[in-house]
Parts: sequence; C-alpha cells; structure tokens
Amino acid sequence: MKLLADVDLQRFNTLRLPSTAEFFAAPNDLDEAQLVVTEATARNLPITVLGGGSNVVLRTRIPGCVIMPRFLGIEAHREGDEHVVTAGAGVVWHDLVRFCLGRGIPGLENLALIPGSVGAAPIQNIGAYGLELQERFKSLTALSCRDGAIVKLNAQQCAFGYRDSLFKHLPHASYLIAAVSLRLPATFNARVGYPDVQRELASLGIRVSAVAVAEAVTRVRRRKLPDVRRVPNAGSFFKNPVVARSDVERLRGLLGNVPTYDHPNGIKVAAARLIDAAGWKGQHIGAAGVWSRQPLVLVNLGTARAADILTLAHSIQADVEHRFGVALEFEPAVFGVDE
Ligand SMILES: Cc1cc2nc3c(=O)[nH]c(=O)nc-3n(C[C@H](O)[C@H](O)[C@H](O)COP(=O)(O)OP(=O)(O)OC[C@H]3O[C@@H](n4cnc5c(N)ncnc54)[C@H](O)[C@@H]3O)c2cc1C
Repeated sequence: MKLLADVDLQRFNTLRLPSTAEFFAAPNDLDEAQLVVTEATARNLPITVLGGGSNVVLRTRIPGCVIMPRFLGIEAHREGDEHVVTAGAGVVWHDLVRFCLGRGIPGLENLALIPGSVGAAPIQNIGAYGLELQERFKSLTALSCRDGAIVKLNAQQCAFGYRDSLFKHLPHASYLIAAVSLRLPATFNARVGYPDVQRELASLGIRVSAVAVAEAVTRVRRRKLPDVRRVPNAGSFFKNPVVARSDVERLRGLLGNVPTYDHPNGIKVAAARLIDAAGWKGQHIGAAGVWSRQPLVLVNLGTARAADILTLAHSIQADVEHRFGVALEFEPAVFGVDE
C-alpha cells in the first residue's frame, strides 16, 4: 500500500491545528495495515496512529508515518443474557451507540455523542456521566507495530483506569487497535446518578429507557460543550486530579464547595472548579482560549497552532499548581515537532 507524502492533517484534528504528516496511509483492513507497518518499518519511519483526531494536539509536522485505520463494520450476536458487539476501529463511536440503540441493545447510552473512533475508545477508557468503557469491554484485536503480530487482549490485559490504559504506558504506537468487542446487557439498567442527566430526563417527560438516557445525555452535552464544527476543541484538556482526603479539606477551606468523585486511589476533584477559581474561564492567550461555559475545554479561536494551545495549557497548569498545590495532567496526546 502506497504511503502518501506531506499530507495536511488540519481537517483530521478537531482543534483544527495546522499540521502535516511526513507520510500518511489510511488502510481499510488488517492486511492493508500490515503492509503499511511493514513498509514504514523497512523505511525506519516512526508510526503515529490517528483516529478521529478529537483527543490530540498536533504540532506543525508529524515525522514518520501517520496511520489512520478505516476498518468499518459492526457485528452483534447474543451470548446467553448478553449481547456481544464487535466494531472496527474506524467506526465512529457515536454510530456504534446508535447502532446498539437501534437494535434495542442497551448499555452504551451514557457514552452517547463522545467524539472519535471505536479504535481510540480503549486508549483512554472513555467515560462520561457515570460510565466508563471498561465496564462494557470484552476484548480487542490489535496489530503489533513492532513485529506485525496480531494479538487479542482482554480487559485485565488492557489495565484500564481513569482515562488510562496499558496503551498509555507503552511506547507510542506499540499497537494499532483494529477492532473492539463489547459485552452489553440484554436488559436495560438505568444509570442516571448525574443531576444534569436527571434534570434533562425529567424535562423530557418520557419513560426512562436507554434511548431516553441517550437523548438526555446528548442534550446535556450539546448545551455544555462547544460544537467542534464551529469552535475547534479537543474536549476536556485536563484530567480531574486525584488527591488525598486531606487535600480535599484544604481545597474546601480555600474555595468552599469543590465537587469530588470517589476514585480507587484517592478522591477525584473537579479540575474545572480549580481552573475557574484561578480566573481562567473565558480567558485567552493569542488565538488559544478557555471555553467560557466549561473551563476544562481549550479552544482554537481561529489561527492557533499547537504551540499556542500548549502555552495556554502550561500557564493554567502552573497557575493552578501555584495557587492550590494541585498538579493538572493533560488528557490529549501531543504529537510531532514544530518547524
Ligand atoms: C467535544 C469533545 C468532547 C469529548 N468528551 C469526552 C468524554 O465525555 N469522555 C471521554 O472519555 N473523552 C471525551 N473526549 C475525548 C475524545 O472524544 C476521546 O478520547 C476519543 O476516544 C478519541 O477518539 P479519536 O478517534 O478522535 O482519537 P484520536 O484523537 O485520533 O487519538 C487519541 C489517542 O488514541 C490513539 N489512537 C487512536 N486510534 C487508535 C487505534 N486504532 N489504535 C491505537 N491507538 C489509537 C492515538 O494515537 C492517540 O494517542 C471528547 C472530545 C471532544 C472534542
């Protein structure tokens, strides 16, 4: 399969950052992907895997070969009291959610409208409104970019955590995820602990069902998050930090009410509250801005490059650490070099 040279990636990332791939390929299946990996390896080109580009910061040049898997197709079958649904890496995540809802298969409704591809979903164990992918995950098939082997990994092997997985701890592009299998319940079990979702469901005034929860989540998301087609962004730019209980008391002493969530390693604090309290909401540095309705989201106001977004992100990190003694971690991956 031919590698294309000097491919413009601006339309392939939701922050709409100007970036060029030295080489690029979009294989349609595992055979084509194996050929691309073999070719890139033979030419000593480092590999970068790109899905929908909704959780990346692309610097102006990506050296080596960018691979965008376009493996499509969704298959579902019943196994006892569960549905097993398998989708190709290139399937749009929300299309998978809609596919399941359309067939009366519940279980993904809380994850409706998360941008991006199925293949990227395990990388950061996507989550929203009280549900993480790991709770529905069965296994994945991946191509090893080191030796071309095809491997199958189960949930335990993927070592999922909060916005975390095995893949974030391996050298980048160790694996290209080809397909993801989910285990979904046969009967709907509502997960509507989030007040926003509860309020939206009440205002819809319909019986609580998987479709109703997806609709409520979709409405909340549309209201809270900027539409990437009009305001380029990469969703939450910072993870919610996990801190010790004593830190929560200290932060509450400083800030009053701070939303917290339980976490196996401590207590997760709402990063948005800290960024807001530090006065960053609606601020900008050049063409990189902080979204006025949700300060976790950094936006491209028009002409931003990766360096502008990163300058703003580093300034917020330093300020929050200085004021509140809490380190914020980036959620998106940063790729490439500035030329
Ligand atoms: C408006 C908005 C809202 C969002 N809301 C949420 C949310 O509620 N919850 C949440 O968890 N995330 C959210 N995100 C982040 C993003 O949607 C997810 O991280 C999504 O899974 C990224 O998918 P992608 O295909 O765009 O991945 P990309 O941005 O292309 O890539 C992300 C990472 O995955 C790797 N990758 C991609 N595809 C593959 C593959 N096939 N094999 C191996 N590695 C791969 C890339 O190398 C990179 O490291 C949001 C983003 C936006 C823009």
